[in-house]
Amino acid sequence: MNPTAKAVQPIPSLDLRAQYASIAAEIRAAIGDVLQSQQFVLGRQGSALETEVAACCECSYGVGVGSGTDALMLALRAAGVGPGDEVIVPVFSFIATAAAVTALGAQPAFADIQAGTLNLDPSQIETRVTPRTKAVVPVHLYGLPAEMDTINEIARRRGLTVLEDNAQAIGARYKGRRTGSLGDAAAISFYPTKNLGAYGDAGMLVTNAESLAARVRALRDHGQTEKYVSQEPGWNSRLDEIQAAVLRVKLRHLQEWQRARQAHAVTYNRLLAGAAGVITPQVPAGLEHVYHQYTVRIAGGRRDRVQAFLAERGIASTVYYPVPFHLQPIYASLGHRRGDFPAAEQAAAEVLSLPVYPELTAAQVERVAEALAAALAS
Ligand SMILES: *Cc1c(COP(=O)(O)O)cnc(C)c1O
Repeated sequence: MNPTAKAVQPIPSLDLRAQYASIAAEIRAAIGDVLQSQQFVLGRQGSALETEVAACCECSYGVGVGSGTDALMLALRAAGVGPGDEVIVPVFSFIATAAAVTALGAQPAFADIQAGTLNLDPSQIETRVTPRTKAVVPVHLYGLPAEMDTINEIARRRGLTVLEDNAQAIGARYKGRRTGSLGDAAAISFYPTKNLGAYGDAGMLVTNAESLAARVRALRDHGQTEKYVSQEPGWNSRLDEIQAAVLRVKLRHLQEWQRARQAHAVTYNRLLAGAAGVITPQVPAGLEHVYHQYTVRIAGGRRDRVQAFLAERGIASTVYYPVPFHLQPIYASLGHRRGDFPAAEQAAAEVLSLPVYPELTAAQVERVAEALAAALAS
């Protein structure tokens, strides 16, 4: 470690303690109310959160569930996906996008991403469709909406359900409309590190389709449509009242946190504009990025050295995601090999996410950008 690095504070990837410090009184009061009520599952907080998150996503219905993964899985199940069916997913995402398909006994059909946006390449969808294909799951990776108009058009023509994986993009906009309202349904994750994070696991399904919402509402509670009357096999996957109370407090701050993330991104873009060897996030016209991650690309096999250079200076950075789905051990039986999805493989070798959490100061953002520029110049 160089001697100057010790004198300055390290910059983590995320600082949830700083966020908690800014809202501690509100959070303690909200949790206190739940403790007073002694109602912990499927109560007033959960249904209020469902209404508020649905409104935030410009949707009619929200159904709280145990996690983002469960939201994906229950939505696919409600859309009729079962054993032997196929669901098209991009190979470059968090593993849950594909694992939710696998958990239903269905098979993910992999598609590559666009080199520019790192989101699902719509031109790959038709080549993956078979008579067993039921759905497509575009991911709004890092907080940038996928190319939904084209995806929806193809899906409509081929009779596929479109389930948005909106785990990373709550609040983002595609041509003026909020993500979560763009397909047939959307899965949201409230995992603690997400832009809207609970204090444990939680998730939600949002949709404009009343029947789909009703089916997920039953599936999350043992297939019950009324108390002690079970229509079909389901699960126990519910969003509890303490998490709902925490999320309702945080939802009130989401817009201000989103603006802070976007301001940091603007600063990074400006400071890195002249640096050779780095590509900053590309945001197509008409799309609003909410920067769950601010992810640059570093070509020429230098990414890992750059990451080590930053670490020596106390700056955390992360690789989301180092192994595309088709190269994961869990999917070895699908018979894919290196070279099958070149855009995703190149992204996996080049991406690096820099700290972009709302509580960063402007000086910290500048320090990260300067260190990155120095790493590239060295
Ligand atoms: C976090 C995440 C999920 C899963 O959400 P959990 O709440 O952790 O189950 C799914 N897809 C993507 C893209 C994610 O980032």
